[in-house]
Amino acid sequence: MKDNRAVRKWEFRFIVVLLLLVHGGVLGQGLRIDPPHWYAGMSGDSLQLILCGKGVGQGRVRLEGADGVKITNQKILSSPDYLFVDLEGIHRIKPQTCTLQLELGGKTQRIPYTFHARRTAEQTGRGVDASDLVYLIMPDRFANGDTTNDRVAGMQQTEIDRTNDIARHGGDLKGIIERLDYLQELGATTLWLNPVQENDQPRESYHGYAITDHYRIDPRLGTNQDYLALADSLKKRGMKLVMDVIHNHWGDRHHLNKNLPDSSWLHRWPAFTRTSYRASTQIDPYASSADAQLMKTGWFDTHMPDLNQEDPVLARYLIQNNIWWVEYAGLDGLRLDTYAYPNEEFVNCCVAELTRVFPLLGLVGVVWVHTVAESAYWVKGNRLNPRPQALPGVTDFPVYRAIMAGLQEAEGWDEGMRRIYYTLAQDGLYGSFPVNHYIFLDNHDVSRVYASLNGDLDRMKMAHAMLMTLRGIPQLYYGSELLMGNHAGLGATNVRQDMPGGWPGDQVNAFKRDGRTRDQNEMVDYIRRLALWRQKNGRLMKEGQLLQLVPENNLYIYFRQLPDRGIMVVVNAAQKAANMPLDRLAELLNGVQAMKEVTTESQQLLNEPWAIPGKSARIYEYQKITQLNQPGRP
Ligand code: CA
Repeated sequence: MKDNRAVRKWEFRFIVVLLLLVHGGVLGQGLRIDPPHWYAGMSGDSLQLILCGKGVGQGRVRLEGADGVKITNQKILSSPDYLFVDLEGIHRIKPQTCTLQLELGGKTQRIPYTFHARRTAEQTGRGVDASDLVYLIMPDRFANGDTTNDRVAGMQQTEIDRTNDIARHGGDLKGIIERLDYLQELGATTLWLNPVQENDQPRESYHGYAITDHYRIDPRLGTNQDYLALADSLKKRGMKLVMDVIHNHWGDRHHLNKNLPDSSWLHRWPAFTRTSYRASTQIDPYASSADAQLMKTGWFDTHMPDLNQEDPVLARYLIQNNIWWVEYAGLDGLRLDTYAYPNEEFVNCCVAELTRVFPLLGLVGVVWVHTVAESAYWVKGNRLNPRPQALPGVTDFPVYRAIMAGLQEAEGWDEGMRRIYYTLAQDGLYGSFPVNHYIFLDNHDVSRVYASLNGDLDRMKMAHAMLMTLRGIPQLYYGSELLMGNHAGLGATNVRQDMPGGWPGDQVNAFKRDGRTRDQNEMVDYIRRLALWRQKNGRLMKEGQLLQLVPENNLYIYFRQLPDRGIMVVVNAAQKAANMPLDRLAELLNGVQAMKEVTTESQQLLNEPWAIPGKSARIYEYQKITQLNQPGRP
């Protein structure tokens, strides 16, 4: 009898503990709120909180201690495991921690919720512009500064294999922080990292484009604090940070995708249906609606569900997340992935709101297209889209393609250097000077520039001379300064090589001069010289008027001009030397007596003929002397 009572007593205690644990799943550790905190005095009056937890949709929330802020709406969508709470009056609240009182199942839970002070003007991002030089890093492949986070228990992908293009390699934020001297010496002013948000996917999680938690840095790259440390280290150096954000899709293992708040959050098809990736369908006046629809609502990949931004609650979630990161890390810019894919009204609202909250924020949309018209369609002030656009700049694929092809072709009516000339001749479609575009020679999705140019160092220099002086914000891709090769294969997984010297035990350390080959040092030095020159000529790069001459004999000449000074860039893509066409320049260089070549620092007088060697580029800087200062000239 006594024994049985003891057993029952233990059974009772066990059941009580079990009930507490189950209950704890509802009200304790299992409850999550997005955003995890917000900012006091944030312009824009409303805030949408998502409470996530089993059955939480049955609850009701009251707000305590947040003067001026009130709850205007609480709702559940199709899943009972979310409660959406709308707050208003946010701009009035002082920095403080208030309390959310959640009443659920007869119990009340008090949940602290903090409104932090916003950053001061000095701590806020300064924006990204044409005086900057952006350096793109794939964080998993740059440097492994912390081997203890290579494998994180509990995550879907825990293996490391540096011999496998689609495996994780172990690079992280600490590795980047430790290499900032290298990047600053190279002349980079701004880092754009491929997405660093959590990607807890079972495969190919390294590239970052299948986000599974919008508010968390992937633990294999570091913590949110590490991201803040990177942002702060950059600020201290006068450098900048751009975050890669994605509105079109997320990873299928996203915590909200595993238990969707509402069925309308995704575009659904009877069977997996891939987008056509044909952005042309959006501007094509003759497109079938099925084609246009497929591009917009087909899935980017099997594990990347297509989001329906027409759902206002999802749209709010995505925009708030962008605002949260910009304020959290004092970001200077966002790179908006797959910009042509989401709902057009949504992306415009998103850009408009970000610009309103952060007037200096540098925003660039990725529009991977082949023509200037398709590019222009998405840009503010363009002459094609009947609906006004908000986006200040795009990734300039037409100029990229023109430079790559033009540098390798013999001259034809529209081939060779003329291809670049013709591409820029269409800039009028943008409606304003497209100085906020990212211009580039490669990125993580296309062949390495050195491969595209068939391993030709001379052409590499010509390409970089144009990259550093044409209109727009130049963007380098990590490792291309080291002449990394590789044509992009399927999925471009093979152009995401490890930086030599980024991993403990690497045989070669290319971060140091003596770890690089002679050619690598020549390229690094060339980029550095131009980058440092650009830093001293920011105004010219931002405001300098572009003027170009029709190329003859594959000799391309263009100018960037301010009223009192400018540069003349000469690219001779022919094999043999070319005489400068002084007669064509007379009008443009009126008032200029001598020029200095930027890469060699040699002087060039204008009263004597001179020639440009074959396969080379020259950048001449000059000051314009007014007529009054030129005694002796008629
Ligand atoms: Ca690591």
